Amino acid sequence: MTVEQYFRPTKAIIDLGAIRQNVQQLKVHLNEGVKIIAVVKANAYGHGDVAVAQAALEAGATMLAVATADEALHMRKHFPHVEILVLGATPAYFAPYAANERIRLTVFSTDWVQQAAPYLEDTTATLNIHVKIDSGMGRIGVRTEEELKALEAAIIAQPRMQIEGVFTHFATADESQEELFQQQVSIFSQLKSSLQEKPKYVHASNTAAALIKDATLQFDAVRYGISLYGLTPSSYVASIEPFPLHPALSLETELVHVKQLQAGDSVGYGATFVAQEPCWVGTLPIGYADGMIRKLAGQDVLIDGQRMPIIGRICMDQCMVLLSKPYAVGEKVQLIGKQGNEHITLDEWAARVETINYEIPCIFTSRIPRVYR
Ligand SMILES: *Cc1c(COP(=O)(O)O)cnc(C)c1O
Repeated sequence: MTVEQYFRPTKAIIDLGAIRQNVQQLKVHLNEGVKIIAVVKANAYGHGDVAVAQAALEAGATMLAVATADEALHMRKHFPHVEILVLGATPAYFAPYAANERIRLTVFSTDWVQQAAPYLEDTTATLNIHVKIDSGMGRIGVRTEEELKALEAAIIAQPRMQIEGVFTHFATADESQEELFQQQVSIFSQLKSSLQEKPKYVHASNTAAALIKDATLQFDAVRYGISLYGLTPSSYVASIEPFPLHPALSLETELVHVKQLQAGDSVGYGATFVAQEPCWVGTLPIGYADGMIRKLAGQDVLIDGQRMPIIGRICMDQCMVLLSKPYAVGEKVQLIGKQGNEHITLDEWAARVETINYEIPCIFTSRIPRVYR
């Protein structure tokens, strides 16, 4: 990978060794022969898709999954020989591009098959299809045996299409409550066995199911997303996960300005922070346009191995932190990650903004350089 130069101290550091470890440990945990599909949609959950995919493949993943046609084409440019699957719906006019680029598509409607067929007439390539069953997620997929059989027949009737996979997605694999999960398992098993022929790849498990559910649900492959990045799908999974995960992302910056305030001086838009006594304040070059959303006001950062809070409102490009003493400009600031004995996790950010860990790195914008170690 080319080493890019950035003129900005704010960086997301991605530990590719952690990504590799997270895949290697999963591989040991899985049944013999189960393939690992590395889910690198949304720029690898904000971690940088090309570098993450490379690391995951090195560690034993054999297929990449993305959400959209454009993400698949982008991956294909970098990985000419790897199997790539689009998990979401794609427009029928993408079919010839997918066939020529050997991109596997998720299909769940006979209408789509009829619409895509004319686009494939001028190609000699075959479109590989993974049929999606909606066993209870309520998102995309066929819901009944009749629909599934009709779809299978429609695909078989097309000379340029073949079924390579059948899959489903669980809505509650990361929860202790098993009722819907078991219902999904039985619907999936019933529907998939109504196919005339078992496809090459039957897959159902996301991270949570691969880590904590019955090993028979691993089928031919598992779709490994969040834990690839060293994050756990939920606190329930964290409480019983079979091996320790290694978070790959840390976020750091530096103090760009340090000043002393007197009692009565204020900080930021709306002057919401007012010094009650003389204090030291540092400015950080990161703001909501980087994905450090305003709801993170009050969040601690690490300086010199100690927690110090963000004060006032977070601006578009900057925010301010209350210092325990006058640190020098250029002092390293850890926003996510370890410093000394302290650790600020991505989960801590997620809890503060009342969301899940998945969402936090996804909203880091392209203005934050991703630097790989
Ligand atoms: C995103 C996604 C995954 C990965 O889920 P994780 O919980 O991150 O492992 C798997 N399958 C489908 C269909 C997805 O959309």
